Amino acid sequence: MKQDKEEKEQAPAEASEEELAEVVEPEALELKEEEVVPEVTKLTEALEEWKPKTLLGKRVRSGEITSIDEVLASPHKLLEPEIVDMLLPNLEVELLLIGQAKGKFGGGQRRIFKQTQKKTAEGNVPSFATMAAVGNKDGYVGLGMASSKETVPARNKAIRLAKLNIIKVLRGCGSWECGCGTPHSIPFKVTGKCGSVEITLIPAPKGTGLCVERECQKLLRLAGIRDVWSQTKGQTKTKTNLIKACFDALSKLLECKIPEKTRATLSIVEGATQRVEQNTSDVENDRKKASS
Ligand SMILES: [Zn+2]
Repeated sequence: MKQDKEEKEQAPAEASEEELAEVVEPEALELKEEEVVPEVTKLTEALEEWKPKTLLGKRVRSGEITSIDEVLASPHKLLEPEIVDMLLPNLEVELLLIGQAKGKFGGGQRRIFKQTQKKTAEGNVPSFATMAAVGNKDGYVGLGMASSKETVPARNKAIRLAKLNIIKVLRGCGSWECGCGTPHSIPFKVTGKCGSVEITLIPAPKGTGLCVERECQKLLRLAGIRDVWSQTKGQTKTKTNLIKACFDALSKLLECKIPEKTRATLSIVEGATQRVEQNTSDVENDRKKASS
């Protein structure tokens, strides 16, 4: 009899959990289907129909401004994501895993949507938050976070914000163990902060890879950085803060005033570079040399 009672007591709690799971599952599936559709064709069509509203947008449309550096340096605020689409055509979008599916003992699967609920008299009102990172893998990255009552608008908002928050990244070879003269890492140590989280990115020699947390790896990969060491402090399980701190560190690279002499010794490159192609060929050459 006692067991029966216990079962009855446990039953309602489990049912509510299942209800929650039902809310999450179908939308996640819908999104996966959408992602299969190639977004490149969608983008080009949208860009042809684009009618700019801001001065900056009109200048980009007319061909007066041809590089993203001019946009970032101009006093006008970047308000239209199409500007970034037009000037950086090979932009890649990645959604970061900031949420978690409901699971017992904290073992829920990582999800791109962080689901939260507001309690009202009518019932629970769920909302979905997501974080998007954009980058061309060659010196430009952006990060955006947004929430909405449904998943699709939240994702669109986040991508839009990520494009508007785009920054230029400084790259170089700041490791004393390397000194190869190619911009595969960062030129010097930087620390970024958000909330209690502090992350320090340290230049590493060629071949190290990205020794950072997984979501930060995605961000750095989109920025075009290949080798880095890191150190963190604070509540790093708060993923949103950790990612924001990483982005903060990248933006701080640009704030330093660097003399020309140092720029040459650390082989610093601002933003995009033609030398990346040479780099890959360099790596291939090195491999050939090693093999021979
Ligand atoms: Zn190097």
